Amino acid sequence: MALVPCKECGTLNSENAEICLSCEFPIKGRSQKQLWRWVALGLALVFGLPFAVYSIDLLKAQLQPEASRPAGK
Ligand SMILES: [Zn+2]
Repeated sequence: MALVPCKECGTLNSENAEICLSCEFPIKGRSQKQLWRWVALGLALVFGLPFAVYSIDLLKAQLQPEASRPAGK
């Protein structure tokens, strides 16, 4: 396990620590990685949600063929 010095007070913290044990300064790099995780999640939602809605619509149409067809002859 690597130790990273705090940029604020110089205390050595575990690289898994999110904040400095001494001054609670957020250790850089980790928060940025989490930011990118949220950005990726947001993009996945933006692009994945319409696709999910579309496939649910397709599934519904396949499960109920009569309902999707216009009635009457
Ligand atoms: Zn510190």
